[in-house]
Amino acid sequence: MRHPKNKVFHKLFPHEFIRMYHQSLILEYDNKLFEKTIGCPKCNSYKRSKYDIIKRTFCTLITENGFRKIEVRVRRYKCGKCGRVYNAKSPFYPRCDYSRPLIDFCLFLSAKNPYNKVEVILMNLFGLQVDRDTIRLYAMRFKERAGKIAGIKLFDKDIGINFLKLFFGVQNVRELKRKHPDLKGIESASDETYPRKKGAKKALKEENKIRKVLGEDEKKYPDGFTTAASYLPTIKSYASLIVTENPFNSIFSRLLRLPLAGSDYNLTDGHKAYTNFPDRERCLFHLAKNMAKKDKILKKLQKSAFPNEIKEYLKKKYQEMKEEMLNMMKEKHPDFIDPEGEFTGSLTTNCIEGGNWRIKYELRTPYENLSSVTAKTILITIMDSIYNFRYGKPNESFAHANSLFKFEDAMNIRIKEEKAKMRFELPKNFPRLEFNPLSVRNMKR
Ligand SMILES: [Zn+2]
Repeated sequence: MRHPKNKVFHKLFPHEFIRMYHQSLILEYDNKLFEKTIGCPKCNSYKRSKYDIIKRTFCTLITENGFRKIEVRVRRYKCGKCGRVYNAKSPFYPRCDYSRPLIDFCLFLSAKNPYNKVEVILMNLFGLQVDRDTIRLYAMRFKERAGKIAGIKLFDKDIGINFLKLFFGVQNVRELKRKHPDLKGIESASDETYPRKKGAKKALKEENKIRKVLGEDEKKYPDGFTTAASYLPTIKSYASLIVTENPFNSIFSRLLRLPLAGSDYNLTDGHKAYTNFPDRERCLFHLAKNMAKKDKILKKLQKSAFPNEIKEYLKKKYQEMKEEMLNMMKEKHPDFIDPEGEFTGSLTTNCIEGGNWRIKYELRTPYENLSSVTAKTILITIMDSIYNFRYGKPNESFAHANSLFKFEDAMNIRIKEEKAKMRFELPKNFPRLEFNPLSVRNMKR
């Protein structure tokens, strides 16, 4: 971690706000004693004796005279039954230095900002000191812990998140409908995107130079992280997310669709990994694109006709296909017909493509570490589903109105392996090893 350098306020930002904010924080928390308890966490006994008082940092303020810590005191008790020493109830998460509100603040901002930008916002607008690496660590911890509640697992490893579980405490769309009977038709759209890895563009260039010399075909795309997501346009929320370094395949698609059980239909493109999707409907737009590739009249037109004639032809063709699909869908899914007889369900995967575009936009910079990019993507998709402002005006999403989810649901979970894992995280640019560095000790034995 970087040693914190002294920070100064931005001189163009009104200091009054920061000063008032700091004063109220000091008034509320400085030296405050937390001593309430809910009993022993091990045996639930209320029999206890006072043990000692520990100091904890609620937050660190940036002031004209350097950093100033706001410290609180937390009483510790010794259980009279089992002897365990435990803390009184206090606003801290397990294994996190700063206080709960500050960490929630970091997570909230991290969904829409790169970690270093979060550091700057906290500094300039609030006069709070948290460094970039700490913010990143909190995001990673959130990912680990959210996985304990709603992780999608492959061989015991979390590779994604079931948002229906995280937001609504249900396994799938079927259970969501049961919980909210006013939700009649729910369709889904699934798609993948490949945010590129840090340094992958340069690596691709280098590789293609060599391929050229060897007379091989050029590689088209730089290495990326496979980010597959499913989206429920009815409630404008993500249902599931998978982030992996492996190419998308039918195993991932099978895991991705688990939360979609009970949906009326599921839109995908023509990727063969989706072949086994139940109640699958092919995206109209992708179908039309495929049609255009094979259309003989279009090929003729492209040789002789004016551009506007081609455009007219394509438009007409698309309308015909849309008409055909609409009729079919109305028959298959009458739940989606509104009182005016219009079909309200989606015909294309546009909603998820928009969503994937938003993920890429919010990621902004390429990442090199799977864990880090996954943490960030989870925060982005949560914020994209739980919102209170959109299209330039106040606008509350279904999940914002109906979900009880809070960051603390995940952050309060205690994970034993976390500490060890963080200690063994390899430094940047560390050469890839063929053996597991954690097992070196075992080999020497
Ligand atoms: Zn006890």
